[in-house]
Amino acid sequence: MINKPSTLKIINLLQNYGFKAYVVGGAVRDAYLGLEINDADITTSATPTEVTTVFESNGYRVIPTGIKHGTVTVLVDGEGVEITTFRSESNYVDNRHPESVEFVDDVSGDLLRRDFTVNAMAYNETEGLIDLYGGKNDCDSKILRAVGNANERFNEDALRILRALRFVSKLGFTVEKETSKAIFKNVNLLNGISKERVYQELVKILKGKYVEETLLKYKKVIFEIIPELKACDGFDQKSKYHAYDVYTHIVKTVGYSKNENVVRLACLLHDIAKPYSFTVDEFGRGHFYGHQEKGAEMAVSILKGLKVDNKTIATVETVIRLHDTVIPANRVKVKKFLSKHGYEILRVLIEVRIADALAHAVTYVKERVEESKAVLEIANDIISKGECFTLKQLAVNGTDLEKQGLKGEEIKNALNFLLRLVIEERVENNKQSLLKAIK
Ligand code: ATP
Ligand code: MG
Repeated sequence: MINKPSTLKIINLLQNYGFKAYVVGGAVRDAYLGLEINDADITTSATPTEVTTVFESNGYRVIPTGIKHGTVTVLVDGEGVEITTFRSESNYVDNRHPESVEFVDDVSGDLLRRDFTVNAMAYNETEGLIDLYGGKNDCDSKILRAVGNANERFNEDALRILRALRFVSKLGFTVEKETSKAIFKNVNLLNGISKERVYQELVKILKGKYVEETLLKYKKVIFEIIPELKACDGFDQKSKYHAYDVYTHIVKTVGYSKNENVVRLACLLHDIAKPYSFTVDEFGRGHFYGHQEKGAEMAVSILKGLKVDNKTIATVETVIRLHDTVIPANRVKVKKFLSKHGYEILRVLIEVRIADALAHAVTYVKERVEESKAVLEIANDIISKGECFTLKQLAVNGTDLEKQGLKGEEIKNALNFLLRLVIEERVENNKQSLLKAIK
C-alpha cells in the first residue's frame, strides 16, 4: 500500500534491530483512499535514544526534533522523516496539551491517542493494515469519527475541532453525529488555543477541495475564530448583482478562487466590512460605500490577531482595498498599475476579482472575468518581455542625469518624468532617446 523507498528503508532497518515500526496517521489514510501522500510519519517501539543509535550507526543523520514527545527526524535520501516512539497522552491542560506523555510498548496504545478513526491506522508490509477503531470502514463510508468519546476528545484538545474541519475540507467526509454534536458543543474552547495554531489550521481548511461545503456547514466554528464574519451571515445585499447573502457570496468566492493561501485569505475577508458599510437608497437598492477601505482595515486587524506574517497581511490589505477597482485591459494602464503596486499585487488582485465575479449573480459575470483574464495576460506579457515599468528598469539612472548637469531633487523628478514617458509609450527605453527627451 505504501511503497515509498525512504519509508520502507526506515521500517526495515528498525525491524532488523528487533523493533516494531509502522507508517501511521495521514499517510495510511491517504494511501488507503488512493490520494497522493506527502510525508509518511513512522511510529516505533524503539525509544528516541534507540532510534538515534540505530540510524547513526548506519550512517544516517538524526535530528532530535521533539525528544520530549518522542520524535526524532532522520534524513533519508535527502528527505526528513519523523519517527515517533509509541506513546500515550494523559491529563490534558489548557484544552490542548497533554501534561504527561508516556512511552508504551504496543502500537494499540499509540493509536488510541489519535484524533479520528481514519487517522488512527498503522501499516507495514509484514503485518498489513492495523485498524483497531474502524478507520478503514469509515474511509469507505467517508465518515469522520472521533476515536472514543468525541466530547472528551475535543475537551482534551480543542484544536481537534479545527482539525476536523481540515479533514472535512480535504476529504469531503461527513462528520459522524456524535462527533459533530461535540464540535458545536465545544466550539468556544477554540478561544483558548494559540492564534498561530488556529491560523495554521485555517490555512489548511481553506486549501481543501471541499472548502465551500465546510465553510457553510461549520460556519459556527469559523465565526468563533473570525467573529467579524458573523455579521455577514444571512445579510441581504438588496442588489440585482448579487444572488447570495454576504457570507454565502464570500464562501462562493473562496470556492471559485485559485488554491493559493494569500488569494483564499483575501477572498475570505474581501467583503467583511459590507454589513458595517450598508445603506439603502430611495429605490430600495443596497450600497456598500467604503467597504473596500474599511474591509482592508478589518482584515489587517484580524490577520494581526492571528499572528500572520507581515507580507501576507500587506498583500491582503492592498488587494481588499482595490478589489472593486477596474484595471482596463490596456497595456499602458496595466503598466501604470504595475509601476504603482508591483506584479504580485496585480496577480493576486486579478485572481480575487475573477473569483468574486463568478460568485455574483450569473448575468453580470462573463465580461468582468474576461477583462480580468486579459489584464493578467497583458501583465504576464509585459513581464516576460522585460518591458520597463520601474525606475530600476529605466535605461538611464541618476548618474547619467548628473552628467547632464541635473542636481538633487531635479534628478528624482526627471527620472519619474522619464519613467512616465516610457510607461505611456511616448519614448523608447534607451539611453539616447531618454537623454534627448530630458533636453
Ligand atoms: P495531513 O495530510 O493534513 O497532514 P495528517 O493526518 O497527516 O493530515 P498531521 O497534522 O500531519 O495530520 O498529524 C499526523 C497524525 O498525528 C494524525 O493523522 C493523527 O493521527 C495524529 N495527530 C496529530 N495531531 C493530533 C491531535 N491534536 N490529536 C490527536 N491526534 C493527532
Ligand atoms: Mg501530515
